[in-house]
Amino acid sequence: MEPIITKFYELLSKGEIWGMKCKDCDSITFPPKTACSYCYSRNVEWYKLSGEGKVLYVSTSILPAKRFAEYAPYVYGLVKLKEGPFFATLIDGIEPKPEALKAIFDKLPLDVTAEIKKMGGLDILIFKIKKE
Ligand SMILES: [Zn+2]
Repeated sequence: MEPIITKFYELLSKGEIWGMKCKDCDSITFPPKTACSYCYSRNVEWYKLSGEGKVLYVSTSILPAKRFAEYAPYVYGLVKLKEGPFFATLIDGIEPKPEALKAIFDKLPLDVTAEIKKMGGLDILIFKIKKE
């Protein structure tokens, strides 16, 4: 694995979520990469994220990713992190049933908070719906 990804998972296992902040355009890149996702500058540094965001869209696992297959059915969604980047991952707190998803659709976007879950031997960043 790239050192940057190794470090990302090390930090994640401590409960910390880090991205990269661009020193040229101030944008946040997540997951962290060696270059800014917005202006492609390599002038980036590690930046700790709040773990707060909003979920914009949710769906169920029709074709689960291989590493998540044993957790199916599950709900995944697109989260806009407070710091700007978008991230697609599992969403906790919604039943993977059509009725439950329909009820959620009417309320989107909803506030979510990061949760680190051990799945298939890896620490996975998921988001949980905040209680209203
Ligand atoms: Zn940039």
